[in-house]
Amino acid sequence: MHKPLIGAHVSISGHLHLAVERALSIGATTMQIFTKSNRSWFDKPLDLEEVSVFKKAVKAADLRGIMVHSSYLINIGAKEESTEKNSVKSLTLELERAEALDIPFLVLHPGSHTGAGTESCLKKIAHNLDIVLKKASGNTMILIETMAGQGTNVGSTFEEIKQILELTKNNHLLGVCFDTCHIFSAGYDISTDDGYDEVFKQFDKIIGLKHLKAFHLNDSKTEFNSHKDRHEELGKGNIPMTFFKRLMNDQRFAVVPKVLETPTDPDMELYKRELKLLRSLID
Ligand SMILES: [Zn+2]
Ligand SMILES: [Zn+2]
Repeated sequence: MHKPLIGAHVSISGHLHLAVERALSIGATTMQIFTKSNRSWFDKPLDLEEVSVFKKAVKAADLRGIMVHSSYLINIGAKEESTEKNSVKSLTLELERAEALDIPFLVLHPGSHTGAGTESCLKKIAHNLDIVLKKASGNTMILIETMAGQGTNVGSTFEEIKQILELTKNNHLLGVCFDTCHIFSAGYDISTDDGYDEVFKQFDKIIGLKHLKAFHLNDSKTEFNSHKDRHEELGKGNIPMTFFKRLMNDQRFAVVPKVLETPTDPDMELYKRELKLLRSLID
């Protein structure tokens, strides 16, 4: 049996490789990080020493399926040209950094149309993904995150995600990150047993389960179909633990990395407890 890949979004504060220590301290077998400030467009390049220390630490810790979350500023579907340009440049740098660090996945919020309409936004996203992926020089995949449908964000339906995947020519390095909170808020009812079967059936039919490369495991503070993105600690929100139990035991996703993302106390006791809880759900 495979060791389940579960972890959390951990801080790189101090130094990149300290994220690995933090992941180990909570009993994680995978992790998600930012490789730079999540509120800046650009950052100074990684130095070789930094890269090598990080890679050694990851290897020693045997962390697998690591994800980078790209900057929150990036909107490659933006209406404004300056935002679009900065976003493409910033995403290209994010990909280069992830490649340099040998990180397999880069998670991306697909974008928001800010009034320009969903269709043209999806086309723009695919066009810009082609520009970024043309420069790819490693195996790092960009994972489109499923969104809650807040504001003018696109990517809250399986159909929109499918369109992005299909419109992008260079799509062999594209996949999907399934955020449980966002999915529930977007109106996919994963709260019942039948709902569980139906939602993944729909995902498979429309997008294809083979494209599902990672999970964000978040409970939802807001009610079903709220279109709000409010994470909650597992078991405290509106998604029942029966969902997480089934997911943890679903053999289709046995080797798919799963990370917690709900902000936690600085000493990460909550993450530690949640990972323990997830492990206890495995039959
Ligand atoms: Zn995200
Ligand atoms: Zn979220």
